[in-house]
Amino acid sequence: MKIIMLGAPGAGKGTQAKKIAEKYSIPHISTGDIFRANIKNGTELGKKAKEYMDQGLLVPDELVVDLVVDRVGQPDAANGYVLDGFPRTIPQAEALDKALEALGEKVDYAINVEVPDENIINRMSGRRACVACGATYHLVHIPPKTEGICDKCGKELILRDDDKPETVKKRLDVYHDQTQPLIDYYTNKGILKEVDGTVDMEIVFKNITDILGE
Ligand code: ADP
Ligand code: AMP
Repeated sequence: MKIIMLGAPGAGKGTQAKKIAEKYSIPHISTGDIFRANIKNGTELGKKAKEYMDQGLLVPDELVVDLVVDRVGQPDAANGYVLDGFPRTIPQAEALDKALEALGEKVDYAINVEVPDENIINRMSGRRACVACGATYHLVHIPPKTEGICDKCGKELILRDDDKPETVKKRLDVYHDQTQPLIDYYTNKGILKEVDGTVDMEIVFKNITDILGE
């Protein structure tokens, strides 16, 4: 099962993608996580990506596409995957389709997690992410058991640099301009599924599994 998560920054794509990956035993592939790991490790890719991420801009397509095409070709992705944060532009979606077509494969579902802009700033300012394992929490909605500490691995939780309100506003503009057109793109392909992302995360997940099946 090959699944794409769509939605504004902070809509809950990562939260749901992790749960989907666990339930269906497929890898969760987050381009944002891949870039953050590269930044942490001080790689050339990380240095380049950081320049864009800190400004709330998208990393250029040429730095993202090959990386994802390579990742989805790894053995652990043979039975499918859930892509979180990719594609984010029409050229990225076209490149993915072309690469899959060459293998006789295709994306099965594009799930759009809908959350209005008004809710997004609150979501992002309350988001806390684990520096070590990438688990995400929300100070109010999904708090960790101990403040500032990851439930899963015991390491520190931080506010992402790009989750500051000024940067979030820019990321929302970029989303509407460059990523939202993917909704029409996947609607035209007949694989778009919409879920309300404003309800409790377990209800969002139930609605997603109703679409994907048991
Ligand atoms: P994205 O991957 O789309 O950027 P996240 O999954 O990181 O978004 O979610 C953004 C923030 O909102 C996180 O702090 C997360 O814990 C919280 N969140 C996710 N889903 C819900 C929900 N259904 N209700 C309330 N808060 C949520
Ligand atoms: P995310 O963790 O998905 O919110 O991504 C964080 C940041 O990484 C984004 O704001 C972009 O700067 C960059 N990024 C992640 N995925 C992509 C992508 N597919 N294309 C371009 N930039 C990306």
